[in-house]
Amino acid sequence: MRQKFLNMSVLIFLDQSEGHIKKNSLEAASYGAKVAELLNTTSEGIVLGNVTEDVAALGAYGLKKIHTLKNELLNNIDDQVYTKIIAEAATNIGATVIIFSNNFSGKAIAPRLSAKLKAGLVSGAVALPDVTNGFIVKKNVFSGKAFANVSVKSPIKIISLNPNAYKINKGEGTAEVVELNIAVEQPKVKVTAVNKVVGEVPLSEAEIVISGGRGLKGPENWALVTDLAKALGAATACSRPVADIDWRPHHEHVGQTGLAIAPNLYFAIGISGAIQHLAGVNRSKVIVVINKDPEAPFFKAADYGIVGDAFEVMPKIIEAVKK
Ligand SMILES: Cc1cc2nc3c(=O)[nH]c(=O)nc-3n(C[C@H](O)[C@H](O)[C@H](O)COP(=O)(O)OP(=O)(O)OC[C@H]3O[C@@H](n4cnc5c(N)ncnc54)[C@H](O)[C@@H]3O)c2cc1C
Repeated sequence: MRQKFLNMSVLIFLDQSEGHIKKNSLEAASYGAKVAELLNTTSEGIVLGNVTEDVAALGAYGLKKIHTLKNELLNNIDDQVYTKIIAEAATNIGATVIIFSNNFSGKAIAPRLSAKLKAGLVSGAVALPDVTNGFIVKKNVFSGKAFANVSVKSPIKIISLNPNAYKINKGEGTAEVVELNIAVEQPKVKVTAVNKVVGEVPLSEAEIVISGGRGLKGPENWALVTDLAKALGAATACSRPVADIDWRPHHEHVGQTGLAIAPNLYFAIGISGAIQHLAGVNRSKVIVVINKDPEAPFFKAADYGIVGDAFEVMPKIIEAVKK
């Protein structure tokens, strides 16, 4: 039965930021290695730009070979330039399954690559493909309210894996590293400045997120969120109205029109749980809700709920965690 996959090979795009491979890419690598195992083939990675860490060590995630292209023009991701290079590399390597993380860069590059290679794309995959009868991938649809099983019939298949949907699997071993011989063209867009949020856990990669809503009444009360976040090494987030009225910066806004996150623990304080908010957080592994209204819709999505006044409950939680 596996015979038909003999010519398949799996290529994983490993996203980097400031020379470091992102955590989401390690999930994609672990996932890709397992996909390769299912297809009875090997998995290879592609890293673009000047990476400071030892890329051979990525072999520990099951990758046999890493294709690199060191060039400072590639240090900032340019979707068009990246797409062209990955398309050329994938064609040269003969990759038939190409895997991305469904993060910012994966969302930008995977659809472009899909058009360029005439490849079927499953974005937002949440599980390994079923290869027993075709190539069927389970993905989130309707902002995480339902699943779809998508059958990919094109010769080249692209999957973008939802962050936190697959566990990082680190073993041992090193990968062979080969430099790609592909010309890098000048990006059409020039990055003139990057304003970074410093000193905080990046929201998109955080394992724990503490989030506040309008129930906290005003920015002067945000220590109830930030103190717990500090004690747990967590990132902070907020509902959209909180960012709209400038209680918190916009990069903290999660939901349908904000960032979609999938931490292991999402702590929602004084947030009603509107469908547009849930759309960005309902992939969290465990949801804890604190709300004084027992009818708040968020309780339906919660794993643990506390019906109570955040101004009474939170100081006790913070004190207990600090102890
Ligand atoms: C097109 C569209 C897109 C949208 N996109 C987003 C999005 O991306 N993200 C998003 O968040 N929203 C989004 N919204 C808005 C969304 O519909 C809700 O209005 C919003 O999420 C409500 O924010 P909230 O829960 O903080 O505030 P509220 O709805 O005002 O809820 C406050 C909650 O706090 C509770 N509370 C009050 N006092 C206390 C207390 N002392 N202790 C404990 N609990 C207390 C209340 O019981 C209530 O449940 C969108 C809306 C539209 C129409």
